Amino acid sequence: MTNIVEAPENPYLTAQAQLRGVAAQLGLDEGMIELLAHPKRELAVNFPVRMDDGSTRIFTGYRVQHNEARGPVKGGIRYSPMVSLDEVRALAMWMTWKCAVVNLPYGGAKGGVIVDPHRLSAGELERLTRRYTAEISIIISPSMDIPAPDLGTDARVMAWIMDTYSMHHGHSIPGVVTGKPVGIGGSSGRVEATGRGVLYVTQEACRAQGLPLEGASVAIQGFGNVGGVAARLFTQAGAKVIAVSDSNGGVLDEAGLDVEALYAHRQAGGILAQHPIRHEDISNAELLELPVDILIPAALEGQVTERNAGRVRAKMIIEAANGPVTAEADAVLAARDLYVVPDILANAGGVVVSYFEWVQDLQSFFWEETEVNQRLHRIMTNAFKEVSAVAASRGVRLREAAYIVALQRVVEAIEARGIYP
Ligand code: NAD
Repeated sequence: MTNIVEAPENPYLTAQAQLRGVAAQLGLDEGMIELLAHPKRELAVNFPVRMDDGSTRIFTGYRVQHNEARGPVKGGIRYSPMVSLDEVRALAMWMTWKCAVVNLPYGGAKGGVIVDPHRLSAGELERLTRRYTAEISIIISPSMDIPAPDLGTDARVMAWIMDTYSMHHGHSIPGVVTGKPVGIGGSSGRVEATGRGVLYVTQEACRAQGLPLEGASVAIQGFGNVGGVAARLFTQAGAKVIAVSDSNGGVLDEAGLDVEALYAHRQAGGILAQHPIRHEDISNAELLELPVDILIPAALEGQVTERNAGRVRAKMIIEAANGPVTAEADAVLAARDLYVVPDILANAGGVVVSYFEWVQDLQSFFWEETEVNQRLHRIMTNAFKEVSAVAASRGVRLREAAYIVALQRVVEAIEARGIYP
């Protein structure tokens, strides 16, 4: 099995280059570009954690707040050995654009701890989370900066963050973090939100392209929270999901996979390729090159590269993962006029329902899942239409249009507020 992993480039430089490209088109002045190219606030913390064997280890973590012109900042916390300050800076900037493109009243932020969470016991992970929360508590709050899950963190970690912050204040403050379990202020529909948002955006994209989703063939790379949920929802919507994959490779059935059986198998901890249903084994690289109507990369960044972009045979790509298409590959796809819905739009459903969770927490009034989904549908379809209209009027691709919409909103907020003092 071959998995394509690009040599890591500095994501902060990439994010700044993307910003400068769009800023030039909008004719922004250099002062504004410099303001947007740098995070407003960066906190680096080195903190001790008592390990199970009695030793003390020092960990390094970050919280970066990119821009708060449109409201409190929002973004996930990543636990990974690959975390770096530049990665967190880039992710914080991308959160600013993602929140703005779907018109949430938020700026962008991101956090991370350099740690492999799989190498810690549950107790060590809890102590690390609580101490990291204490360290960053000087800059998080429901009205300032609201963290959420990201790679390596989950609802359990969010519960520890909420509890630690609440203990410091002497009362429960659920609105300080989203992605919590439903029983302590989480939102119905949050777990499925990103995959559901991907479906809503794809329905609009199909309408725009004159491609009926019903009966359309779909290949999905990644079968986790995003890819697995998307596979089920696309099947329920009448699409034919013919290939899915996980980190061990993929399965293909031209007649359409039994997605429910595969999902149950995965929930039970199984590897896709080992499921006994009728299928052909394929690699992740082969999945990306299948002649399908819709390709949904929903696993890792850097999967469609300069090397394989020319061999992608899908009619459209919906970027469910963050950054699955490299900048060089995107140029190849653009030259081929391949229709791509960019990540900051396609996978924004997660942050939209995180926003709903925060709103529900602040009001202590919780919505039914149907209400969550209806509101999500409205926001995602409006955002898609706005971005498509800009793409049509300016003669640019959806990625550029999404950045233009986002940047214009952030700049408008900065200008309305003025420069203090
Ligand atoms: P996840 O950990 O639940 O699932 C990841 C999936 O990718 C798993 O099926 C895993 O086996 C597979 N995978 C891992 N390495 C792979 C490889 N080398 N090749 C192919 N498949 C591989 O993660 P997720 O929450 O589903 O996130 C997937 C992507 O979506 C990430 O890029 C994430 O940043 C992005 N995203 C997630 C959310 C969210 O709400 N979860 C929101 C926005 C964006």
